[in-house]
Amino acid sequence: MGKALIIGCGGVASVAIHKCCQNSEVFEEICIASRTKSKCDALKDKLSGGRTKITTAQVDAGDVNALIALIEKEKPDVVLNLALPYQDLTIMDACLATKTHYVDTANYEPEDTAKFEYKWQWAYREKFEKAGITALLGSGFDPGVTGVFSAYAMKHYFDEIHYIDILDCNAGDHGYPFATNFNPEINIREVSANGSYWEDGRFIETKPMEIKRVYDFPEVGPKDMYLLHHEELESLALNIKGVKRIRFFMTFGESYLTHLKCLEDVGMTSIEPIEFEGKQIVPLQFLKAVLPDPASLGPRTKGKTNIGCIFQGVKDGKPVRYYVYNVCDHQECYKEVGSQAVSYTTGVPAMIGAMLVMTGKWRKPGVYNVEEFDPDPFMDALNQWGLPWQGSIDPQLVD
Ligand code: NDP
Repeated sequence: MGKALIIGCGGVASVAIHKCCQNSEVFEEICIASRTKSKCDALKDKLSGGRTKITTAQVDAGDVNALIALIEKEKPDVVLNLALPYQDLTIMDACLATKTHYVDTANYEPEDTAKFEYKWQWAYREKFEKAGITALLGSGFDPGVTGVFSAYAMKHYFDEIHYIDILDCNAGDHGYPFATNFNPEINIREVSANGSYWEDGRFIETKPMEIKRVYDFPEVGPKDMYLLHHEELESLALNIKGVKRIRFFMTFGESYLTHLKCLEDVGMTSIEPIEFEGKQIVPLQFLKAVLPDPASLGPRTKGKTNIGCIFQGVKDGKPVRYYVYNVCDHQECYKEVGSQAVSYTTGVPAMIGAMLVMTGKWRKPGVYNVEEFDPDPFMDALNQWGLPWQGSIDPQLVD
């Protein structure tokens, strides 16, 4: 079918690359390009021998000209951005210059302000329309599958959705007192920020971890979960017409929260540079350097994740509830692709998004979030490629 250029070679990219190689009918060729080429080469060595042809390259994804040169050399059908949110705009600029489709899993975040919003990427809509290319934003799990679940619920179960609760439970245990399951810098920026939820047409801000609930997750059991701001709230508020409230909850264990509080209290989670022995360092980046590499958690993590959405609304004038979720087992993921479930649940939808754009099933000029496309092919692909989902019409609700 075609060729993808995958930028980044970390936890999520590694899973997506494994999945592209399993799906060699669509991904005949991939080029893995990242800051550290040795990581790309190591993965290529591990995966070569299959039917997907793999090449590798070194690139600084913050450098638009370097990206343009790479895209012109490799001539991919789609660029799958699995580097960090800081590089979204430069990669989109390079896609525009070369008229190449673009897919990512996280919205742009300026490096010096911990603020993630779609406005910077949505501002590219007209340029992508004019260039005749598709940008698919947020094709991970959350954002990503949660948006697809919303579009699926809207299409098949509701006339109107009034309430959405997105529940992200990671019941995995890696045995460390404190570690993050994906890039520590991005993860800590997300969880130490103020929370917020969408209600009656506006965002209501909360203090970090101010709102706590307990939920009894299918196949996992009862867990404490906390309300966070999350990027899909912004796009779902716009794209699910008539929605009155959207909340996002994530589970955290007591040890994680106690460590985070202590690190915050001593200033280790700050993104303000400080002077240390004649050098400027960012405390959060230093913290990242001393924490376990998320990639190293794979072999040690046991337990399951359960991520899904509970919808409430009406169909044919009657009240309806629908809960759709995926349960993923950390050790099963590790056996299959050598990564834990947090990378797995993001890497699989990233491959699926790139596949749907490449095959033309999800392609229209402009910049779109996943819930703006027909959810059915994505839902089928989740079942096929390792993230089967289940639905229930009588779930426990979150109060
Ligand atoms: P990692 O830190 O493991 O990987 C990031 C990769 O990007 C590394 O290979 C890194 O290179 C590379 N990179 C960083 N800066 C540059 C640069 N300037 N030029 C080229 N390459 C660069 O992160 P994850 O794999 O955990 O996360 C990847 C993305 O997925 C992030 O944007 C994250 O926010 C997103 N994500 C989305 C989720 C979702 O559900 N939607 C869930 C989890 C993550 P090097 O090896 O040199 O460090």
